Amino acid sequence: MAGNMDQFKFKKSLGQNFLRDKNILNKIINSSNISSNSLIIEIGPGDGSLTEYLLKTGNNVLAFEIDQRLKKPLELLVKQFPNFEVVFEDFLKVDVDIYLDKYSYEKLYVIANIPYYITTPIITKVIDEINPDIFCIMIQKEVGDRLIAKPNSRNYGSLSVYAQFRYNISKVCDVSKNSFFPKPDVDSVVLRFEKKLLNYDIDDTDLFFNFIKDAFKHKRKNLKNNLYKYDLVKIEKFLKTINKDLTYRAEQISIEEFVNLYIYLTGK
Ligand code: SAM
Repeated sequence: MAGNMDQFKFKKSLGQNFLRDKNILNKIINSSNISSNSLIIEIGPGDGSLTEYLLKTGNNVLAFEIDQRLKKPLELLVKQFPNFEVVFEDFLKVDVDIYLDKYSYEKLYVIANIPYYITTPIITKVIDEINPDIFCIMIQKEVGDRLIAKPNSRNYGSLSVYAQFRYNISKVCDVSKNSFFPKPDVDSVVLRFEKKLLNYDIDDTDLFFNFIKDAFKHKRKNLKNNLYKYDLVKIEKFLKTINKDLTYRAEQISIEEFVNLYIYLTGK
């Protein structure tokens, strides 16, 4: 961290639990495998504890922080590191492309200990708008469990399919509440997303994800009930080819099977 934070009043409403565990900071950096000539985006740098580690890799770091009260510690880092740019804006509202245009880089990383009150909107914006090569984030454990869940498990749902559609996701480590100040109410986990080399052949991914959301709409219901709006005869025909039928639930269908079903159903 940069500067003295003794007088700082942490805002729970902004998810301000600052990481104070060097061991975890090192794990985030090591697992990210940051190559030179990269640009690293950080969301919510806080007082800069993770930022400093990112800057020491020698790559450019572009950070978005909503809280103007953190100007003092972060501007100390700007003075110290010419490779640091901090923008005091709401990450969810900012047009990141405008800032990205200024940089040239070979690989794009998003590495962050994010504010948990906006976990899903942040993940969605990172994947849909930034689409980095590597995305390493600290999030609450329950969301982490859903993101990495595989078929036939309790946590597998539309969020798992959405994230794993473009990324291979692995767990870096669990993080105890004691690693933060102030101590949060929930346990955390660090996940690493690595962009898949091959994309699935679907033109309109928004429509595909609507289909996925419909398939998982009511957890206890089977595909016949959740997908009643679609051509059930065609769906059943496809399911037969993979030895399944309409009594199966969405949680029993893998991403590849969903993709193939969707292409069979819509022709794209
Ligand atoms: N990165 C620091 C660390 O690891 O110690 C702080 C992490 S803290 C969990 C989350 C940070 O995100 C806080 O600094 C908070 O002010 C900031 N934040 C909250 N909402 C934000 C938003 N919409 N856009 C950008 N930053 C935000």
